[in-house]
Formats: sequence, C-alpha cells, structure tokens
Amino acid sequence: MSVKNWVTGFARIGEQRELKKVLEKYWKGETSFDEVIEVSDMLKSRHWNYQKVAGIEAIGINDFSLYDQTLDMIEMLGLTPDRFKDIGDKTARYFAMARGDKEHTAMEMTKWFNTNYHYIVPELRSGMDYSIDISKIISEFQAAKVEGFTPKINIIGPLTFLGNAKRVDSNDLDAIGLYNEILPAYTALFEELAKLDDHMRIQIDEPILVTDKATELLLLVKDAYIKLANAADNLELYVVTYFDHAKEAVAQLLQTPIKGIGLDFVHGTDNFEVLDQIAESGKRLIAGVVDGRNIWISDIEKKVAFLNEIAQTVSKERIVVSTSCSLLHVPYTLKYEEKLDAQIKSWLAYGVEKLDELHLITKLFFEGAEALNSDEALKFAQNREANASRKSSSMIHDEAVQSRMKPIDELKKQRVAYEERIKVQHETFNYPPLATTTIGSFPQTPEVRSVRRDFKNSAIDEATYVEKMKGFIKECVEFQESIGLDILVHGEFERNDMVEYFGEQLKGVAFSQNGWVQSYGSRCVKPPIIYGDVSRPEPITVFWSTFAQSLTDRPMKGMLTGPVTILNWSFVRDDQPRAETCYQIALAIRDEVDDLQKAGIKMIQVDEAAFKEGYPLRHINRPAYEKFALESFWISTNVAEIDTQIHTHMCYSDFNDIIDTIEAMDADVISIETARSGNILLKVFKEHGYKKEVGPGVYDIHSPRVPSVEEIEKQIHSLLEVLPARQLWINPDCGLKTRRWEEVKPSLQNMVTATRNVRTSI
Ligand code: GLN
Ligand code: ZN
Repeated sequence: MSVKNWVTGFARIGEQRELKKVLEKYWKGETSFDEVIEVSDMLKSRHWNYQKVAGIEAIGINDFSLYDQTLDMIEMLGLTPDRFKDIGDKTARYFAMARGDKEHTAMEMTKWFNTNYHYIVPELRSGMDYSIDISKIISEFQAAKVEGFTPKINIIGPLTFLGNAKRVDSNDLDAIGLYNEILPAYTALFEELAKLDDHMRIQIDEPILVTDKATELLLLVKDAYIKLANAADNLELYVVTYFDHAKEAVAQLLQTPIKGIGLDFVHGTDNFEVLDQIAESGKRLIAGVVDGRNIWISDIEKKVAFLNEIAQTVSKERIVVSTSCSLLHVPYTLKYEEKLDAQIKSWLAYGVEKLDELHLITKLFFEGAEALNSDEALKFAQNREANASRKSSSMIHDEAVQSRMKPIDELKKQRVAYEERIKVQHETFNYPPLATTTIGSFPQTPEVRSVRRDFKNSAIDEATYVEKMKGFIKECVEFQESIGLDILVHGEFERNDMVEYFGEQLKGVAFSQNGWVQSYGSRCVKPPIIYGDVSRPEPITVFWSTFAQSLTDRPMKGMLTGPVTILNWSFVRDDQPRAETCYQIALAIRDEVDDLQKAGIKMIQVDEAAFKEGYPLRHINRPAYEKFALESFWISTNVAEIDTQIHTHMCYSDFNDIIDTIEAMDADVISIETARSGNILLKVFKEHGYKKEVGPGVYDIHSPRVPSVEEIEKQIHSLLEVLPARQLWINPDCGLKTRRWEEVKPSLQNMVTATRNVRTSI
C-alpha cells in the first residue's frame, strides 16, 4: 500500500497541557495512574483524529510517551539499568528512571540533537540482557485499528539509540562499541512487531545520521538495516532522518532492503545531491518539506514547486510528502491564540495548521490546483495572501532598524585590550581577589510570583506593583550586604523568565498565549516569536538596577540576557538569515548596556546561557555560527567604557571544545558551572591560556542541600591550584530562583565565610 503523505511524529503533551497536568497530579499522589492512562488515551485519539481529518495517510503510533521516547525504548528492549531493578512495579520504575525517587537518582537527561527537547540517556554496559516488551505498542496499534486506520510504528533506530547512550562500564568507550550486543535486541523487537499485522510499516528515526558521527557509522548502517529488514518478511522499513542532511548515510541505506528514506529538505538542503542515487535505487523518498521546527506558514506554492523539482529526478509516485521532523517541536494549534495580532497570527502555523498545509501541498503536487475543492482553494488563496503580506508588512520591516544595520560591520569588534581594561577596572571597583557575587536571580517565592501575576491581571495597579517589587529588592540587597558579599545584584524578581522578560519589551517580538512546546517530561516552554525587525523602544532594566544601586555603596551588577540566548530560545523569523536577526537583538542589548553605564551601573552581566546549544550539528557549519554569535556579543558589549566591567554567565560544563571562542567573546569576567566537576573544567581554561577572570561555581544550586564552610573552602583551594586568586571570583554555579530562602541564606553565608577563611590563609 502506498501513501502520498506522512507525518514524522506528533506532539503529546496536549493542547491544554493535559498530560503535564495529570502527570503532576499523579506524582503528587493526588490521582491514580488510571487517570493518567485515561488522559493519555484521549490525547492519542485526539491527535490521530487531527491527522485523519487533515487527510494524512501515514499516521504514526508510539510517538506518544508518558515521559520520553528514548526511555520507552529502554523499557521496550528491557535495557533497564541494574540500579533500578529492585523496583518491582513497572510504573514506579519507569518514573524513577525518569525523575529519581528517594532511593534512586534519576537517569541523565540531555538535549535531543540541536533542539530544546531533552531525552533520557540510556545507561548501557557490556553483557546486558535484553527482553522485549511491546505491550505499549500493541495497545496503541489496537486502539488505532479501532479508530479505523492502520498506523505506522515509530521506533528510535539502533544507531541513534546507541549514539545517544553512555556506557556505565567504562568512561572511555562510547556506546557504539556495544553495537553487536544491542542489535540482536532490535532484531528481536522487529520480529515481535512483525507479528502484529500482515504488513508492518515501521518508521525508524535515525537523526544521528545527520551529524558528523555519520561517517564513523557508515559500516554499521548497512549491517543494521540488512539485518533488521530481514528480521521478518512482512516488514516495510523506512529510515527517517532530520535536522540536517544525511548524504553520507544515504548511499549505505540504499544498499539495504529498506523501502524508503526520509530526508529533511528544510534544514538539509544538501540532501538534493543524493536524489540521483535514490531515483536509481527505486526506493521511496519521504520528502520533509513542511518545517517541523518553526511556526511560520509554509509558502505553499514554493513548496509545490520544490517538490516538482525533486520529481525531475525521483519519479512522482515514489515521493511521499512529509514534515521535516516530528511536530513535537512546535506548539499545537492556533485555536487558543486570542490575543495575538491578527496579522501576525495569519503568518503562523502550529502543529494542527501544519497538517492542513501538508494536505494542501500533497493535493497540489499530485493532482494540481484544479483538484482543490472550494474550501481548499480558499485556504490556498489565504496562504498566498498571508505570504505576500509577510513580505511587505510594515510590522516586519522597520526602517529605523534597517538604517542602523547598515554600518553594523563597524561594530563587530572587541573592546580595547583586556590588559588595559582590567587595570582600570581594578582601580575603579577595588574588589578583592576571590571577589564574591551571585549569578543574578534570588528565590522566586510564591509571594513574588503572585505580585507579578496580580499586576499582569490588573488586580493591582502599577504603583502598587513597583512598591512591592522595590520591597523585594530592598530585602534582597540588605541580605547581601549583611552577609558581606562584594558585588551585589537586585534579584530579578520582576522577571518570569530570562528570555521572555526581555522579549516582552522588544519591538518585533510577539508572545503566544498557548504556544507551549515540551522541553522534557512534563516541562514545557513558550518561546517568544521574533517576527520582525527588533529594536528596544525604551530602557528595560535601568529603573530596577538604579533603584537597587541607590540602596548600597557596593557595586550593583546589572543583569541582561545576551542576544545569542534570546535568539536560540525563540522562534526566529525565517525570511532573513538568523545572523541578521541576532545583530538586531544585539543592538537592542547594546542600547541597554549603554543606558545602564550612563546611569552609573558599571558592572553589567550579559548572560549567554544558550550560546553553546546554538552550535550546528555539523562541524562544517560551526565557523559561520561562531562568527555571528561572537560578533553579536561584541556588538552588545563593546559600547562599554573602559571602566565598565562586562560579565557573562554560561551554565553548563561542556566547554572543552569552545574555550577559544569563550576567550574571544572578550567578557572581563565569566561565571560558569563547575560545582559538580571540581576543578577539572578550570584546568581546561588554564591549558588554553585563558587570561580573563573566571567565577567557577563553588556549589551546585540544583540541589536543595546547604554546602558547608569546609566543603566550599576545599573547593576554593582546589580552584587555587589551577588559577591565582586575582583571576578568580567566588559564586554559586547558577541563578538562585528555583531555591528557597531557607537554603539560599545559609549557603551564601557559608560561601562568604569560606572565602574569607581562604583569603586569610593565602
Ligand atoms: N541571571 C540569570 C539568573 O540568575 C542566569 C540564569 C541562567 O543562566 N540560566 O537566573
Ligand atoms: Zn546558569
């Protein structure tokens, strides 16, 4: 049976975040697991129906998960780590692996390729037994049959599973070395799946094949897919890749008995180069043309033209029209967006709207415009109109921003030499070696949140809001003074989120009401929508920072989110290069830096928490990213005078391959997350000859534990083994907003005491 279109995967958290809500209720013990199952079944059925109604022919199952699909694979293959085997109850064990419980620490979580979705990292060792349990798939398969359709089954492929896993029996070997042990588990799984029906169509996700690892996996690609395709003779396997091109792997895949290959033509235009090979092989091409990573409407006419271009090489009947990747990475539906400007809304397509686009593109491509019914013809016309308005709208194109962008090249440079700057800064601020500070935020108590909420809902007026916020700031500043921190912060009480807060005050950026995207487990984020030229109509933080400074003689550190982080945590317009958008944001942040220094705030932290995660999947694309990311940081910060000290903060520890870039950012001080890795990371900084000041977090804020004075002292001593005191700052490893005051107060007090003890001993 052949199909014309295909959806790689659908989101699962629910358009009203139903799954999140019921899971959190269940975790708190407020409802039974039966209700979780009930909500899940309802969601699956609803999502299948959306696809059916839109005329999607290949609808997947097993894209649903109670927590994470990789975790589901671990369970399905029976590769549960030994440390959880004492938990007899299947459900309890599943959630213990995901979130930990009293006796078990959770499994590690990390980003799914270059997305903001986090998967559970499989823990593998040599000699593990597998055992296949496809009960989850059986029940979904049967439910789909009851709903009247035969689904494809989504499975994470063995190479991606292994490539994303870690070995617990060796620190040095990567899990790919276990290929020969894990493949039999996969073969056994496919044998089981084959029993479900006469023909079993399986989509195997192998995004690992779009990364640089593809080259080293080439031999395995062929071996794996010959074996899996031969596991039973009623299997129809489709290997699907996304997020970039999969050129290297395609040639290998074509030498196996799989039925077709999925390629991403939105983010992997190089895939065009392998069309000849695919055509020759006679296999089907699942052509990902509707963007599964962004929320802009497709230009339907262009997509159809693009497919026709593909059809010059690969014959039309072998093409399947598809999304570029799973729709997991976009919000559900525009239906609940009541406050978005109508024009902006007309430029957007969330998951459900993308299904309609897919249908329309399919029909136009295979049958032509004459075949459209009146409703479809109307939608096609609307799409044309919306694309035209997006090209010319004055909401998008802002002349003032454009003219500021013209001489932008002149701003792409570092400040005066660091050696000169730091001398002046030491004289200006006169802070001691091992200066103590924090990363910015202080506890977001229920009281803080409710004041913000009341103001947003107009339950209190602006004057009351400002008074209350000032109260929080005052309390926070007094506390910091009382324990003797050297450099203070205002506490970020006015911010819901470090990106959203800035986004809300920038022109060219819109906010959805319901644009939730799953980040991990039950957690969702609502990324800002950068739709037009970005500028900053008014100062954003100056009021709060100067108020905080007025309360103390110690330096008050201004607190901004950097341009690269704002870019990487937003849905970004696709009608101009990302670099352009980033430079525009950089100009807005530059204005804020300048206004802060003019207002007397001379230490300014520009957070770049998401600098690393924007790195492209392929090395070859890295220099271009690094160039614009660095330049954007410079544009934001090189307006600082010689005696204005620029700080930055990055909260992760996989810096090893980007230290030179970090150095080139040219911040005077960087605070980083190292608390959990001792002084190892700092050694890497030293090996690279890092010259500037560094604040390696001395305790882990992710845990409610209060670190003791002795423990912090020890940590500081181990830092001093690597770098001199004059180059070191002492701070926690990230913001304190998720902690409670009961933990923050003694922790920071101990940090200051420990620092004083160390200072007198050196
Ligand atoms: N200044 C921010 C805070 O303290 C930084 C958070 C982050 O980098 N994630 O919350
Ligand atoms: Zn951080």
